[in-house]
Amino acid sequence: MADYIYTMEIRLTPDQLKGVNLVQDVARAAGITLYLTGGAIRDIISGFTIRDLDFTVQGNPLKLQKDFERAGAQIAGHEEDVRTLFLVLPGNVRAEVGMARSEHYEKVGKPPVVAPASIQEDLRRRDFTVNAMALSLNEGSRGLLLDPFNGVADIEAKVLRVLHNYSFVEDPSRLIRATRFSARFHWPLEERTQQRYDSAKENKYIEHISRSAIGHEIAQLAHEDDPLSVVRALEKEEFLKVLQPHWTTAKVDTTGLSQLMKTRQQIVDLGYTVDPSAAVMHFLTAHLSDKDVSDLRRQIPRKDLVEAWRDIEDHAKDLAKRLMGKEAAIPSRTWNLLSSARPEMILFLAVTARQQAVAQKIKNFFTKWRDVQKRIPLPEMTELLITPQLPDYPKIARDVFMLLLDGKLRSRTETLKFLKPFAPPPPPPPPLPRRGRGPKAAATAPTPVAEATGKPVKGKGKKAAAAAAAPVIAVIAKAKPEPSGKPKAKPAKAAGKPAKPARKLASAKHPPKKATAKKAAKKKSPSKKAKKH
Ligand code: ATP
Repeated sequence: MADYIYTMEIRLTPDQLKGVNLVQDVARAAGITLYLTGGAIRDIISGFTIRDLDFTVQGNPLKLQKDFERAGAQIAGHEEDVRTLFLVLPGNVRAEVGMARSEHYEKVGKPPVVAPASIQEDLRRRDFTVNAMALSLNEGSRGLLLDPFNGVADIEAKVLRVLHNYSFVEDPSRLIRATRFSARFHWPLEERTQQRYDSAKENKYIEHISRSAIGHEIAQLAHEDDPLSVVRALEKEEFLKVLQPHWTTAKVDTTGLSQLMKTRQQIVDLGYTVDPSAAVMHFLTAHLSDKDVSDLRRQIPRKDLVEAWRDIEDHAKDLAKRLMGKEAAIPSRTWNLLSSARPEMILFLAVTARQQAVAQKIKNFFTKWRDVQKRIPLPEMTELLITPQLPDYPKIARDVFMLLLDGKLRSRTETLKFLKPFAPPPPPPPPLPRRGRGPKAAATAPTPVAEATGKPVKGKGKKAAAAAAAPVIAVIAKAKPEPSGKPKAKPAKAAGKPAKPARKLASAKHPPKKATAKKAAKKKSPSKKAKKH
C-alpha cells in the first residue's frame, strides 16, 4: 500500500510541510477533523508542482481565525457562504481551509444549497475524479487516502473525468476549470466527459456561471506556470470573455509575461522563493482599460493578491528610485537594499526597469555579487580560528563580504591582513605527556570542528578547515531576501548567538590593532624560557 504521508513529505517544499503541520496543530487543538484535499493531493500523487494547500475540516474554519493568526498564519480573506478561510502561511505558502460540505443544486443556474457534511459527502461535490481525494491528517487514521472515485487511476491514465453526468450543468465554471487543467497538464477529457463538455458548451450553460466562481477562476490564472497557454486555451473555447468581456490575448503583454516567467525561473534556480502572481496579473491585463482591470480585481476573493497587483507598479517605482539614489551608491549598500526588498518587487523591476543602471544593479545582485562570496578565504579563516564559534563571526564574515563587494579588499593578502586582528587567542597548549606513560602526545594543532555537526572534521589542512568553516556561506546567504520581504534579523541573532556589542568595523586600509585579549593571553601563557625550567 502506498505511503501517502511519505509521498507528501518528500513532495512538499519545507515551508509547505511546515504549513501542513501548523494547520494540523491548530485543528488538533480545536478538536476538529482535518484532511488535505483537492489539487494538493492530485499534485502530490502526479508529481506536478504543488501550488497551494487545500484543507477541508469537519467543522467551521471561520471560527479558527484567531488560532491560525496566533500560530503565525495571515488571514488573506474568507468566503462566508462556503465557510472557507484563505491563509498565507509562513514562507508565503498559500492555503485554503474549507468546511466539509454538501452542495445540492435545486435549479440550473442557481447557486447550490450548502450544508455542513462529512468528508465523504464533500468529495462527492467536487469537479473531477483527480480532485476528489482526501488525505487524513488525523490521529489514528493519518495517511489514509479517501479516493471514492478512483482518482489515482485517472492520474495514472492522465485523464480528466467528471463525477457525474450533470457536473457541467450544475456548475458551469467546471467548463473553465476543465479547459484550464487540460491546458496545464496536457491531459485530455475522458470520452464521456468530453461529450458532456461539448453539449454544455453548445447549450451555453456557461452563461449561468456565478460571479464568485468567475472571481475564483480569474485568480487561478495568476498562479499558472504558463499563464499564456491557459489564457489562449480559454480564448479558443470562448471562456476568456466570460471572465471579462473585453479580455483577449491581444490585451496581454506577451513579451513582458514571457520575460517575467523566464526571469522568475532564473531567480528560483538561484534558490529564492518568489511569488509572481501579482506581476502575472499585471501583464495578463496590461492593455485592458483601468475600468476593466478594477472590474476584474473586484471579483477576486483573495484580497492579498488584489492589493499586491494594485500596488506593484508604485512599489517598483519606489524601489527603482531608491536604487538610483544615495542609498545604493556603492555595491554593499545596494546589496543591503535589495536584500531587504521583497523578491516579488525585484522580479517585477528586473523585467520592467527603464533605467539601465537599475537593471544592471539587479543583475549584479543575482550574479556577479553573489560570486564575491567565493573570495572569502574560508580555510585561512579557520586556520586563524575565525570560526562560527566566535560570537562576532557573523559580523566579521559580513564585513569581509561588504569590503570585498566594494573593492576595498582587492587581494587575498589584503583580506587576510584585515582578518588577522580578529583572530582569537590560540587555545592553551595541551598538558605535556608524562614521560614513559601513555602514547606520545598527538598533533598539537587543534582539530577543526564542523559547526553544523559539532563533530571533528576528519583530516588536516585546507580541505578540513574549509569544511569546518562552511557556515560562513550561511552567514552571507542571510543577505538573501526573505520571502515575506521582512528584513533579516541581525547577524549575531540570526546565528543563534547572544547579540554582543559589535566590534568597530575597521577600514581595509587601517585594520584594528591586535585584540587586547590576545595580548593578555600571550602574557599569561608560559614563555619558552619558563617551560625549560
Ligand atoms: P490549482 O492547482 O489550480 O490550485 P485546485 O484543484 O487546487 O487547482 P482550487 O480552485 O484551488 O483548484 O480548488 C480546490 C479544490 O476544490 C479542487 O481541487 C476541487 O476539488 C474543488 N473545487 C474547486 N472548484 C470547484 C468547482 N467549481 N466544482 C467542484 N469542485 C471544485
